[in-house]
Amino acid sequence: MILVLKPGAPREQVDELISRIKSMGLDVHISVGVDTTIVGLVGDTTKLDRLHFSSYDIVQNVLKVTEPFKQANRMFHPDDTVIDVSGRKIGEGHFVVISGPCSVESEEQIVSIAKELKRIGASFLRGGAYKPRTSPYSFQGLGLEGLEFLKIARAETGLPIVSEIMSTDLLDKFVEDVDIIQVGARNMQNFVLLRELGRTNKPVLLKRGLSATLEEWLMSAEYILNEGNNKVILCERGIRTFETYTRNTLDLSAVPAVKKLSHLPVIVDPSHGTGKSWMVGTMSKAALVSGADGVIIEVHNDPKHALSDGEQSITPSEYASIIPKLKKLAEIEEKELEVCP
Ligand code: PEP
Ligand code: MN
Repeated sequence: MILVLKPGAPREQVDELISRIKSMGLDVHISVGVDTTIVGLVGDTTKLDRLHFSSYDIVQNVLKVTEPFKQANRMFHPDDTVIDVSGRKIGEGHFVVISGPCSVESEEQIVSIAKELKRIGASFLRGGAYKPRTSPYSFQGLGLEGLEFLKIARAETGLPIVSEIMSTDLLDKFVEDVDIIQVGARNMQNFVLLRELGRTNKPVLLKRGLSATLEEWLMSAEYILNEGNNKVILCERGIRTFETYTRNTLDLSAVPAVKKLSHLPVIVDPSHGTGKSWMVGTMSKAALVSGADGVIIEVHNDPKHALSDGEQSITPSEYASIIPKLKKLAEIEEKELEVCP
């Protein structure tokens, strides 16, 4: 349930209203916009209706939120959420490019790719140290050593790092080492992990599950938000459909849909979304135009010999041909491309 307050509502009356709501055993989520202040009620509001607030002169309107996601709902927070990560902004009017290999393979590999990306232009460096592979016999990632190599690459280039967490036992390590913690598609409904991440203050890149509906995806975001961490970035990475030509079906229509439903930033992963390196440039451009707040792209110095996802990885020179096009499109869409240099 949402209470829309009258403009200029006196502070004491707002405080009185809030304590009344809290006395009902509910949590309060306040969003102060340019014109209106919105008070979101979090908890079981099924027995409440507008009559409960009719004696409050400052309440202009009472709205029922019918969707099960509340804090992720745009009704709760009409303005776009903007997340600042090491001085780079994600959301509203900014477009980030997160790039790097699927897996960190060696210090030399990640540092040299990071340097290339920095030279060409990137916002963040991605690299998996823990890999959720379909086969237990496939390369599983370098683990802690991989995280160390990522930190070296960050120190050498200044690019903040994004890496995937697979379980709660490494939470403290990830909070300390990584700038954005990625939750992979396979863990989108690992509710224990989501809750724990919600108790941190780290930005979380939450990938859409392989066959998750938008509502299920937003409910996963809700788990993180409900613990107090409001730094959630959604990532559309393709879903499982009957089509087998592409690895997944990149659901670009999810971008405007989720941006309508939610205030959270949405980025797109054209690499996992298609599974084909030659589609990555086109779908990155389409992602920008669809309203996404960024892309996450797999780039490898030697895709043919990559230890994971080589088929969908582009080379640095292919990457270099995409960035200027994104810059032009960003101008048309009135977005700031958050890449250095
Ligand atoms: C990845 O980013 O390398 C990855 C495993 O992604 P997803 O969880 O989307 O499959
Ligand atoms: Mn990958």
